[in-house]
Amino acid sequence: MSGNGGVTVRAAVSRGVGMATSIEELLLAAPGTDEVRVAIDACAVCHSDLMFLDGGWSIDFPVVLGHEATGRVVELGEGVDNVAVGDRVVVSLIRACGDCRACRRGHDVACTGDLALRHRSPLSDLNGEPVAQGLGTAAFAEQVVVHRSQVVTFEHSVPAEVAALLGCGVLTGVGAVTNTAQVGSEDAVVVIGCGGVGLSVVQGSRLAGADPIIAVDPLVAKQEAALRFGATHATEPDGIADLLAEATGGRLADHVFVTTAAPGAFTGAASLLDRMGSLVLVGIPAEGVTVDIDPGVLAISNQKILGSKMGTARLAEDVPRLVDQYLAGRLDLDGMVTSTHPLNDIDTAFAEARSGEVIRTVVVFDHTDRLEEATG
Ligand SMILES: [Zn+2]
Ligand SMILES: [Zn+2]
Repeated sequence: MSGNGGVTVRAAVSRGVGMATSIEELLLAAPGTDEVRVAIDACAVCHSDLMFLDGGWSIDFPVVLGHEATGRVVELGEGVDNVAVGDRVVVSLIRACGDCRACRRGHDVACTGDLALRHRSPLSDLNGEPVAQGLGTAAFAEQVVVHRSQVVTFEHSVPAEVAALLGCGVLTGVGAVTNTAQVGSEDAVVVIGCGGVGLSVVQGSRLAGADPIIAVDPLVAKQEAALRFGATHATEPDGIADLLAEATGGRLADHVFVTTAAPGAFTGAASLLDRMGSLVLVGIPAEGVTVDIDPGVLAISNQKILGSKMGTARLAEDVPRLVDQYLAGRLDLDGMVTSTHPLNDIDTAFAEARSGEVIRTVVVFDHTDRLEEATG
C-alpha cells in the first residue's frame, strides 16, 4: 500500500517507440468518484497497442498499454452502482459520462464528457513520475483504475481470456456489422483483412444472415480461418474483383469492411461497392495516410462511407448480447484465442501479434503468488 490509499502493481511499461517493454512496479492511485479498481485476469494484445509501440500513432511515453481485458472488481470509488466488489467484468476503453450530448443520444463512443481520468493518469512510477494510462485503460498491469462506464459484468462461466476479447476486437468487429453498417439478411459483404477484428466482422455478418461473405487477406492461413468462422469465400487481394463478380452474379457488394490498418487495403475498396452500398472503415491506419475517393461515383451511386470506432458500441448493451451469443454456441470466441502468455513474456506476445500468425494472443495474470506474498 502507498501513502495515498493507492496500491503497488506490476505493469508492462513502454518507454519509447521500438523499445523493449520493462516489467516495473508502479503506484496505482485509489479510485476517485465514479471510478473502480479492477484486478486484471486477462488482457489481449490488440493491433492498436502495436500501432503505438511501433510509432504509427503518437502517444505519451512512458505508457502502460492494454485495453482488451477482463478482471474482478476490487474497490469502488464514490457513486459507483453498476458493479459490486467481486464482480467479474469486461474492461474496455469506451468511456461514457452519460451526460454529454453524445451520451444522451446513445453515442457512447463519441462522449466528450469532462471526466477526471481524461486529465490525470492514475499511474506513477516509484519516483513519483507520471506514467500514461494507455487508451484510458492500461490493462497490461495487475490492476487498473477506470471509469465506471468502462466495466460491465458478465456471466461467470465464460473463461477470462475469452471474455477479454469482448473489450475491443470482437466488440469492434461485430459492432461494425450490427451497429454501424446494420447488415441485413442476404446482403453481400466483403471483409478486407482477417485478423481478430476482421474475423469478428465475418462472424457478425454470418449472424446477420449475410450471403455471400467474402474474406480478403494476403495470408492463406487467415483466409482459411475466415472460412472456418463463416466466410462463404476467401481470396488474396488480387482475386477479389473476379470473385465478387462471380459470387454476386455481377452485382457488387452491399458492404465493404476495411478492418486492417494497412494503407493498401483502402485503395480500391470503394470500387467494390454496389449502388446504395456502404464502405465501412474499421481499421485505423497510421497518421497521415490518405485515400483517393471519386465523389461523383459516390453521389451517383448513392453510396456511403461510414467510420466505425469501436463498432459504435454501447458496452452495457453489446457485451451481454455477445456473451449470450457465445453461450448459445453462435459466436466462436474460443477459436480466436490462439496463445496465452504471462506478463513477463509480453514482448513475445507482441511479436506473435505483429507476425500475423495468431488471431489473438492474450496476456494472463496469476494473482495467487501476489496473494501469498501479501498473506505470508
Ligand atoms: Zn483495440
Ligand atoms: Zn458523455
